[in-house]
Amino acid sequence: MDPTPFQNVPQTVSTGALPGWQRVDDLVHEAHDRYSVENAGTVADYIPVLAEVDPDLFGIAVIDVAGGVHDVGDALHAFSIQSISKMFIYALAIQEHGHAHVRDIVGVNNTGLPFNSLMALELNGGHPMNPMVNAGAIATTALVPGTTASEKWDSIREGLSAFAGRQLDLDDEVYRSESDTNDRNRAMGRLLVSYGRLHDDPDDVVDIYTRQCALSVTAHDLAVMGATLADGGVNPVTGERVVSADVCRDTLAVVASTGLYERSGEWLFEIGLPAKSGVAGGIVAVSPGKGAAAAFSPRLDNAGNSVRAQLAIGHLSRSLGLNLFASVPTDEESA
Ligand code: GLU
Repeated sequence: MDPTPFQNVPQTVSTGALPGWQRVDDLVHEAHDRYSVENAGTVADYIPVLAEVDPDLFGIAVIDVAGGVHDVGDALHAFSIQSISKMFIYALAIQEHGHAHVRDIVGVNNTGLPFNSLMALELNGGHPMNPMVNAGAIATTALVPGTTASEKWDSIREGLSAFAGRQLDLDDEVYRSESDTNDRNRAMGRLLVSYGRLHDDPDDVVDIYTRQCALSVTAHDLAVMGATLADGGVNPVTGERVVSADVCRDTLAVVASTGLYERSGEWLFEIGLPAKSGVAGGIVAVSPGKGAAAAFSPRLDNAGNSVRAQLAIGHLSRSLGLNLFASVPTDEESA
């Protein structure tokens, strides 16, 4: 990602809580004003219905671990969660099976190849390597609790709803549009079976995966979901424990190196936060112990990441002091 947009944003370093509510709110508005004029990128159209969205939508939400809320612009506009579901499904799978089992079956590395690559599977003897792109995510979906397809879908919907703190609904139009055009993901399901990496019916698993991607969320929901991972697995709005603190740590570690497709390394280098993006235009970034920032805008770069959402979250990471790798000597900090 190009660092130029942040060159005149002061690099704040913080090891404690977020700044006070008003300061955070001012910075969220500032990021929205500043990047709403950015029109680079194109809307995803390989899922036909996604191409019909208004490309100018732009919302930002920040939720802190005390439950403080900042929603700006189109933060309550609904869109499909798409790949961002992979992060939360991964958390549900390791909560169920443990860190080592899921690491062995699916892996924790970046493939360096596009999210829908079949070649990545072939090059690695059928080992998906990365749970945040399609092949690994399809294998991970098969690991959620439940013995039948319907039980697995229920645990996904209930699990993601617990992260969001409200019942999430399926966007039927998006589900049908993707189901009619997802031959590539079906091929991936069969390839996983042929390599002995998937033991359930591949069409059932890909169908559940397609549904999970079509769950309807807002930037506000994504920020609550991310803030749950920032808060050791307890939803800061509802108070419900959704997953363990260890699951949050493991999920964020994987997402840090895989969450923005082939741009994951650049993102971590420039922004310094675990984050996950999806092709409908959402991104959520998590600052452990502090909160989460989510943004939504449909125009994407050529890896599939929303252009405005990257800019907005980059701005907030810098101005709120969220970069995990930034520090200053303690005598300068207290001076
Ligand atoms: N449902 C989409 C697919 O499988 C998700 C893609 C994404 O957001 O990366 O192609």
